Amino acid sequence: MEDSEIDSFFRVRDKEPRIVDKDLFETVEEVFDKATVQAILKLMRRGVLRSLKGVVSAGKESRVYWGKGPGGRDLAVKIYLTSSAEFRKGMMKYIIGDHRFDKSVPKSTRKLVILWAKKEFNNFTEFYKAGVSVPEPICQYENVLVMEFVGENGVRAPLLREADLTLEEYTAIFRGLVEDVRKAYLRAGLIHGDLSEYNVMVWNGRHYIIDVSQAVPVTHPNAAELLLRDLRNITSFFEGVGVSVPPLSKVLHYVTGEVSELEY
Ligand code: ATP
Ligand code: MN
Repeated sequence: MEDSEIDSFFRVRDKEPRIVDKDLFETVEEVFDKATVQAILKLMRRGVLRSLKGVVSAGKESRVYWGKGPGGRDLAVKIYLTSSAEFRKGMMKYIIGDHRFDKSVPKSTRKLVILWAKKEFNNFTEFYKAGVSVPEPICQYENVLVMEFVGENGVRAPLLREADLTLEEYTAIFRGLVEDVRKAYLRAGLIHGDLSEYNVMVWNGRHYIIDVSQAVPVTHPNAAELLLRDLRNITSFFEGVGVSVPPLSKVLHYVTGEVSELEY
């Protein structure tokens, strides 16, 4: 059954009139190998995923789809491409030095990409538990990660970069993000490592931090540098939109818990 389903899928790709699961496959393009298609089918059989709908984002290393879950719930399905060799270099500096993942680094690219997906899922879970505003993580299987969809009817929410907000809204989000970085540091012991206006979504007046695969423990050799870069990105973005922002050193001392209050 499984293999024939998959073979039929590839026949559909060859334009033979054999539709297997229209809902699933009409949107899954040539980017996926058999193993990935199999992983998606597994999630459907498990009942985590009902259907995969439109593409939300097509990056070099991953694609994000809008999907439906049980009860018609909107889901975001992030699928890492396993064919990207470039990927390896970029990932290594966030895997080596992360005590959770650097004990046995796989040789094959596919296995490494699966480890990367697992790392993102674990990071999401830790952030979520610490009360950091991230989409709710739902599950990860092989190179597929399922989470809460931020947006509506398959239309994703704007990124912070794209949002058009009032000064009050920007100010509230800035403060919320500072609190999130602090919770991440003190409760989850993690540093995002790629925080910027491109990895924050804004929906219903609330912000959601996304793209957490590279997040590392505070014990990582580059932790200080990454934290500083995250804070610099955030403070300079909000300064640029007119928010009055405390000096970087004060923000840093606040998020690491050296001081218990931040004056705005
Ligand atoms: P990029 O290189 O484009 O940043 P990436 O591999 O880093 O891609 P993400 O940043 O996690 O992947 O996701 C890519 C895009 O998909 C985001 O910019 C956002 O537009 C969309 N996206 C990610 N997560 C969600 C979500 N939970 N709900 C809705 N849209 C999402
Ligand atoms: Mn991103």
